[in-house]
Amino acid sequence: MSSASLVWFRDDLRLADNPALRAAVDRGEPVIALFVLDEESPGIRRLGGAARWWLHHSLVELGERIRERGGALVLRRGPASDVVPTVVAEAGVDAVFWNRRYGQAAREVDTALKAGLRGTGVEVTSYSGSLLHDPWTVTTGTGSHYSVFTPFWRACLALPAPRRPLPEPRELRGPARMPASDDLESWELLPTAPDWAEGLRETWTPGELAARRRLRAFLNEDLPSYDSARDEPASGATSRLSPSLRWGEISPHTVWHEAVGIDGAARFLSELGWREFAWHTLFHFPDLAERNLRREFDTFPWPRLRPSHLEAWQRGETGVPLVDAGMRELWRTGFMHNRVRMVAASFLVKNLLIDWRRGEEWFWDTLVDADEASNPFNWQWVAGSGADAAPYFRVFNPELQAKKFDPQGLYIAQWASDAPAEPIVDLGETRRAALAAYDVVKRAPRR
Ligand code: FAD
Repeated sequence: MSSASLVWFRDDLRLADNPALRAAVDRGEPVIALFVLDEESPGIRRLGGAARWWLHHSLVELGERIRERGGALVLRRGPASDVVPTVVAEAGVDAVFWNRRYGQAAREVDTALKAGLRGTGVEVTSYSGSLLHDPWTVTTGTGSHYSVFTPFWRACLALPAPRRPLPEPRELRGPARMPASDDLESWELLPTAPDWAEGLRETWTPGELAARRRLRAFLNEDLPSYDSARDEPASGATSRLSPSLRWGEISPHTVWHEAVGIDGAARFLSELGWREFAWHTLFHFPDLAERNLRREFDTFPWPRLRPSHLEAWQRGETGVPLVDAGMRELWRTGFMHNRVRMVAASFLVKNLLIDWRRGEEWFWDTLVDADEASNPFNWQWVAGSGADAAPYFRVFNPELQAKKFDPQGLYIAQWASDAPAEPIVDLGETRRAALAAYDVVKRAPRR
């Protein structure tokens, strides 16, 4: 029987700098490109609505780019542990390639698959494609993981430089008989009733080519002012590459090598470092989205949830202009500026006294860059329960934050000109209540 190579695409929806794809092509046998929508394997987190929208469009583009090179993208739905061996058997595949995933549930799936396929004589090789450094390669002097960012990033910078990006294949020859593919439309990743994605369509072009254009435009136009203006939501000074990095439409290696050496790039590159640190943390604490990293926060006396407060926050109707502007930007575009994410998250946790997990779930559903590591990591950072977190007693004052970072009120005018004028809670009073609740945590033994 003739042989074929299978590339299993996951969080790496790109042709350039894709080590698994490169290795499969270099092998010289026909290549099958596979994407599996797996919402059934235990522990795999179901994608949120905005992420599903992005995935749909990114797969359309990836499929087109593969077709232009002579191949086809095979789409299948179901538990990967069934789907991958089925495709392997159908197509006479004798070598499988993928780039690594780092969440625990995904790793368990991959480890079992690797063992199962190897047991049937299929060669399986995995590569590092989504992070500059695999999480286990960054260790302290005592061989442990890091829990503070600065030494973590220093250790990353001391490692051998990230590899140079690999060229994209010019040709992707498939086998004579390509395995059947699902019709992407049948996955119903796009919202229909109602179609809430108008703002996403206006704001974004998913896919590898647009990601590269965004990177180039950012490096040429915005990087010089990044350091000084990155905290101002109206400035447009950040890269807006997060959804592309989330889906691997562009690799962090490409971003690194295009930016490194440019004046003022160090600050921008250290933000990629926070992304690495979030994954490092998730790798060592797989239940980051469910459990406080600092266990003494388990004693935090959350009051009974007031659904009307949570809803006002979700809808951008809290009467706090910067928070409402951010929440409306999020609802309309699937994105929120980082500074505003911090302020909106702090308001939920420390002024409305709502458990950070409720906020994390809302962001998971509404962000186009919703990321299994960065989202819970940053929520815990704001809540004070996370790695290298902001101290709990540092309660952002959303009015002062607006004065400082949106001094002319441009961002608020763009998103929240018609928001309620009266805050739903008294900022001072709720701040005091939050600090009183925090006293319980302070008295709890540190774990
Ligand atoms: P830039 O400033 O251009 O930064 C470049 C890249 O660095 C980003 O694209 C991103 O990949 C990475 N990065 C920057 N800041 C962070 C950070 N604090 N943590 C991790 N990576 C970072 N980011 C996500 O990618 N997905 C999430 O689900 C997510 N949830 C968040 C939730 C909260 C409560 C907060 C406060 C932050 C969250 N972030 C998340 C981090 C950050 O807000 C976004 O990465 C950033 O706003 C993306 O905009 P940008 O691409 O223009 O960033």
